[in-house]
Amino acid sequence: MTQDLAGFAKERGIKYFMISYTDLFGAQRAKLVPAQAIADMQKEGAGFAGFATWLDLTPAHPDLFAIPDAASVIQLPWKKDVAWVAADCMMDDQPVAQAPRVMLKKLVAEAAELGLRVKTGVEPEFFLISPDGETISDQFDTAEKPCYDQQALMRRYDVIAEICDHMLSLGWKPYQNDHEDANGQFEMNWEYDDALRTADKHSFFKFMVKSVAEKHGLRATFMPKPFKGLTGNGCHAHISVWDLDGKVNAFADKDMPFGLSAKGKTFLGGIMKHASALAAITNPTVNSYKRINAPRTVSGATWAPNTVTWTGNNRTHMVRVPGPGRFELRLPDGAVNPYLLQAIIIAAGLSGLKSNADPGPHHDIDMYRDGHMVKDAPRLPLNLLDALRAFEQDSALKSALGSEFSDAYLKLKHDDWNGYCAHFTAWERQTTLDI
Ligand code: ADP
Ligand code: MG
Ligand code: MG
Ligand code: MG
Ligand code: MG
Repeated sequence: MTQDLAGFAKERGIKYFMISYTDLFGAQRAKLVPAQAIADMQKEGAGFAGFATWLDLTPAHPDLFAIPDAASVIQLPWKKDVAWVAADCMMDDQPVAQAPRVMLKKLVAEAAELGLRVKTGVEPEFFLISPDGETISDQFDTAEKPCYDQQALMRRYDVIAEICDHMLSLGWKPYQNDHEDANGQFEMNWEYDDALRTADKHSFFKFMVKSVAEKHGLRATFMPKPFKGLTGNGCHAHISVWDLDGKVNAFADKDMPFGLSAKGKTFLGGIMKHASALAAITNPTVNSYKRINAPRTVSGATWAPNTVTWTGNNRTHMVRVPGPGRFELRLPDGAVNPYLLQAIIIAAGLSGLKSNADPGPHHDIDMYRDGHMVKDAPRLPLNLLDALRAFEQDSALKSALGSEFSDAYLKLKHDDWNGYCAHFTAWERQTTLDI
C-alpha cells in the first residue's frame, strides 16, 4: 500500500494529484496539486473554504483541510499524468465529524471493536446519454425489453471495454458488463471489498465512467430515474460481515435458511428496522422516489422495491439473499453518496446486532404482483420529505451516525426539499390553471 505520495509520483511519472473529498450531497471536490508540492500537502492537507461545498459550514469557519489518504491513491488509467487520492476533512486539527469519509471511518472502527469487518460490493447502474442530457445516446436502442441486449451492448463497446480495461489494470477484478433493463442503461461489476475501499472505488468509478463517456462525446448519468417509464438507476449493495482477518464469513451458515447465519439475520434485522429512515440516505434526492414506488416500466418491471420485505433469491423485494453468506440491499439508487451508503449499512447493521433485531418473516412471493397480500410490512417512504421525517424520528440511527452528521444532513436536505417545493412545474399549470 502506498504511503509516500511523492515517491509514488516519481515512480509512476505523475505530474499532478487530485486531492478529492466528497461532501454531504455526494459531490467530489478536488484541488489539483503539482507533484512537487505533494509532500507538504500529504502532511498539512489541501485548503478549502468549507462553506463553498455541502458540509453545513459557514463562510466564517476557518479553512478546511483535506488530508489525502495515501492508501486510496489511483493513477488515472486514462490520463497517466494525474493521480486521484481520497481525502479526509479536518478543521482546527480535528476531523470534521459530518464529512462522509470521516464518518464512515468511525463506523468501520466501531465494527472492528466488535471484531467485525464489513465487506460489500456495489452495482452502480448508469445511462449513456446525449451531452445535452435530453435523450439516450443510441437512437437504435429501442427494444421493449432491452436487458442484456447484445447488439446495443456492442454499439457501446468502445466505452464499456475502455472502462473495464481500466478496472482490470487497477486490479479491481471486474467480471462482467451488461446492457441493463432500460434503453441506454449499463452495469459493470467488480469484486467486493472492505466497506471503505468499496466506497473509494465507487466514488472513483463514477468519476471514471463520466470521464470516459465525455471522452467519447457522450454523457453518463447515475440519476435515479432520468426517463419516465424506463427502469431507473439502482445501486444495489451486497453485504457480508467477516472476522478481523477477513477469512471467516460470519454471515455464512449452510444449516440456516438461505445459508444466512444467525448473525447475518440480526444484522439484516437492523436494516429492516431502520429501513424507512435509512432511505433518507440511500435514496437522497427528490427524483429517487420516482424510482422506488414507481409504476410498472415499459420493460414490465421496475426492479425497485416499494415495501420493507426480504426473501431468498427473488428480485422483487427490498432485500434478497442471492446465495449463502451475504444479502443484497436493493433500495439504494444511483444518487447515493458512496461513503454514506457504506456508513448507513454499518450503522443499521450494528444496531441490529446490538438489539438482537429480528428481520421478521421472509415473504417468498412476487411482490410486484402479490405485494397487496403482505399486510405486516411498512411501505417505503413515498417522497424525500417522508424519508427525512422517518430519519428525524429514528434517534438510534441518528446517534449511530453522530449528531454532527445527522443535524447537518437533515438541515441541508430539508433545504433541498424546500427548494423543490418552491419550484413551479408545468404539471401544476396543466392541472390547475382552469380550475
Ligand atoms: P446481481 O445483479 O445478481 O445482484 P452482481 O453480480 O451484479 O449481482 O453484483 C454482485 C455484487 O456482490 C458484486 O460486487 C460482488 O463482488 C458482490 N459480492 C459477492 N459476494 C459477496 C459477499 N460475500 N459479500 C459482499 N459482496 C459480495
Ligand atoms: Mg482563493
Ligand atoms: Mg447486477
Ligand atoms: Mg442491475
Ligand atoms: Mg443486484
